[in-house]
Amino acid sequence: MDTIDRKTLLNKSGLGFWCINHVQGCSHACRYPCHAFMLARRHGRVADLAEWRHPKLVGNALALLDKELRRKRAVDCVHMSLTTDPFMVGQPEVQALSLRIIERVNQSQIPCSILTKGLYPPELADEGRFSRHNTYGISLVSLDERFRVRWEPGAAPYAQRIAALQTLHDNGCRTLVHIEPYPTPNLIEQDIRALLERVAFVDHVFFGGWNYNAIAYEYPDRDAFYRKQARIVTAFCEDRGIECEAIG
Ligand code: SF4
Repeated sequence: MDTIDRKTLLNKSGLGFWCINHVQGCSHACRYPCHAFMLARRHGRVADLAEWRHPKLVGNALALLDKELRRKRAVDCVHMSLTTDPFMVGQPEVQALSLRIIERVNQSQIPCSILTKGLYPPELADEGRFSRHNTYGISLVSLDERFRVRWEPGAAPYAQRIAALQTLHDNGCRTLVHIEPYPTPNLIEQDIRALLERVAFVDHVFFGGWNYNAIAYEYPDRDAFYRKQARIVTAFCEDRGIECEAIG
């Protein structure tokens, strides 16, 4: 796999939390569209989606991380990742580097919060290597594989994605499902309750609408639809004792 060098690795995002982006590009090539891809193209880091879907590792990531963890004292939690996917499908070098980074961050007594549309490897449940204060999340907006193939073509099939998360849950890890960008009915007709039932084992649910695609705005009762979905998610979580953030 090609590599690039960066000047910094551990950075505070505009959203106010610490994050690590140790890869440029993402083979999942989502078509929502991918905000990270649009930014990378705007800043000239990639020419097009074909280049974006061939990820490049940050070759000096571990050396930078060592230096920065010694220097930056106020890091309370590290999010992985805002501009790539740390467990992208079919990219063993990305997975290996992600595991080494999580392990190194945890060695500094700092937990990680991770989000993927890929597959979590079961070794993340190894308490000897990885902190029990980590949170492992998946993005999941449907159970319909036709939708996944259309919008997240390179990402993990939904059933495998959920199964990998459940393995971590069953082994005592804290888990999360990130239901965003949830599609409006003109993109797909589905019942959010079926999705919630499939991930009812998680500790935390986040729900949000689809804000950056014109098709979602064409749905006539978009705001009312999202308010209703948020109410369903909130009621489901209250009923099951699951932490919930639902934006309707
Ligand atoms: S998984 Fe995330 S980073 Fe990768 S293409 Fe999809 S939206 Fe972009």
